Amino acid sequence: MMPCVGQDKEPDREIRFACDAMLGGLARWLRAWGYDAAWRRDISDWELIRLAQRERRVLLSSDQGIFRIGWVRDGDLPALWIPQGMSRQGQLEYVCRHLHLPRREPRCMRCGGALVPVRKEEVWERIPPKTRLWLDAYYQCQRCGQLFWEGTHWQRIERTLQHVAESVPR
Ligand SMILES: [Zn+2]
Repeated sequence: MMPCVGQDKEPDREIRFACDAMLGGLARWLRAWGYDAAWRRDISDWELIRLAQRERRVLLSSDQGIFRIGWVRDGDLPALWIPQGMSRQGQLEYVCRHLHLPRREPRCMRCGGALVPVRKEEVWERIPPKTRLWLDAYYQCQRCGQLFWEGTHWQRIERTLQHVAESVPR
C-alpha cells in the first residue's frame, strides 16, 4: 500500500466564506452555488475578521477600509475585495472566476447549512397544498431546519446559476 504523503484533503472542498454587512445578497447566491457563506447585517469589520480567523473562512468585502487592516493587508487572512456597483450575479461570477469555484450541490440559502433529502410524508404539514400536488422531492437544512423544494422560485435561481456557470471558465 502506498504511504499517504502530504495533504490528502482537497482544500477547495473546505472553502467557506465570511461576507461583510453589504454582501448579504452575495452570501445567499454563494450558498445556492454550493458554499457555506456567513453573513450578518450588523457585523463590524473587527467581528468579521475575528469570525473569518476563528472559522477559517475567506473574507469577502466591498469595504476598502478592511483591506488596510494589518491581518488582511498582509495576507494573513485570505480575503477578496468585491468591487462595488456589481449586480449580485456579477458578484457571484467575480468570486467564482477569482477563486475557481466549481458549482456544487446547493446549500441552504438562509444559513449555508447542508441540505438533506426528507420524506414528503414527514414534512407534509409544512408544504403548501399546491406544491404537494406536483412535487415529491424535499430537502431540509441540517443547521436551521428550513424546508426547500425545487419549485418555481428555485427554477428562477437555477436559471441564474446556469448563466453564471456558462460565463465562468472552468
Ligand atoms: Zn439553513
